Amino acid sequence: MKAAAFNYQKASSVDEVLNLLIKNGDNAKLIAGGQSLLPSLNMRLSNPEILIDLQGVEELKGITEHNGVIRIGAMTTHTEIQDSDIIQKHLPILHQAVPHIAHRAIRNLGTWGGSCVYADPAAEWPACALALDAVMVIAGSNGQRRVAAKDFFLDLYTTALQENELLVATEFTLSKYTSVDYFDELSRRHGDYAVTGIVCHLELDQGIIAKSRVVYFSVASTPVLAEGVQALLQSKTLQDLSQTTFIEQAREMAKSEIMTLSDLTNSAHMKKHLVGVLLERALQHITA
Ligand SMILES: Cc1cc2nc3c(=O)[nH]c(=O)nc-3n(C[C@H](O)[C@H](O)[C@H](O)COP(=O)(O)OP(=O)(O)OC[C@H]3O[C@@H](n4cnc5c(N)ncnc54)[C@H](O)[C@@H]3O)c2cc1C
Repeated sequence: MKAAAFNYQKASSVDEVLNLLIKNGDNAKLIAGGQSLLPSLNMRLSNPEILIDLQGVEELKGITEHNGVIRIGAMTTHTEIQDSDIIQKHLPILHQAVPHIAHRAIRNLGTWGGSCVYADPAAEWPACALALDAVMVIAGSNGQRRVAAKDFFLDLYTTALQENELLVATEFTLSKYTSVDYFDELSRRHGDYAVTGIVCHLELDQGIIAKSRVVYFSVASTPVLAEGVQALLQSKTLQDLSQTTFIEQAREMAKSEIMTLSDLTNSAHMKKHLVGVLLERALQHITA
């Protein structure tokens, strides 16, 4: 199928985007890389009268580091994140995650912001944002507001963005502690969306876990924090994590606390099994 006819306007600033959103209301749709939006237009799942193109808005692009905060502009592509020295040095978990997102051609066009706002529960970026306690920077007619990632991903394909708002960037505050990260996902073929995935981010203060984030994705309607597992990890050493009894306890905790939902091809039961498998692998890898 082909998309229904629509008007098109390429914006060149955030202010222009906001004015176009206010002028066109529900009839308008923002387009970033188009990698999720265009298929939905072609399938006529969405039928906007006007597309507002963000490609010309330079202030939404790029990755910067300032005063211990890394900022990824909403229009930064997946490939730019993969190729960034700042990301490799300070947020290596994002660098590890990129190759799991679709294929190179899609990564060259798809954007950080498009992925976060689309909020597919199987997508890698929302899970990483949650694991790194990221802050989403949102622009609207009343100026900018900041929303923690844990409050941004509300439900299936639903975020805290309100009418006539756009995501401008995401910010990550660097920790003073040493961090240990792990990313893994199981998918049927390389480039497919994950059947189930895990992101772990541990911060160690002199060898003791001071803070941990264990996030699962493609298990429910949003990425999910494994808070019970995080409580088990608190104040442990990496040596503690390598003990067979600890691994078993953590795996059972994860399986009991993560309420998995089935998707089109995978049962909730299988996803629950994979929740345990992925945590066991994560702990073995982190402590190897
Ligand atoms: C075959 C295929 C396989 C894929 N596999 C994966 C995968 O494994 N993992 C994965 O994570 N993704 C995958 N994707 C999706 C891909 O990552 C997309 O790039 C991403 O989901 C959307 O980014 P985009 O820039 O293309 O956004 P678009 O498609 O342009 O927009 C998506 C939605 O976000 C809105 N939007 C975009 N930017 C903003 C903004 N700044 N503020 C407010 N609203 C905004 C749009 O209005 C639209 O509703 C796949 C896509 C395809 C086609």
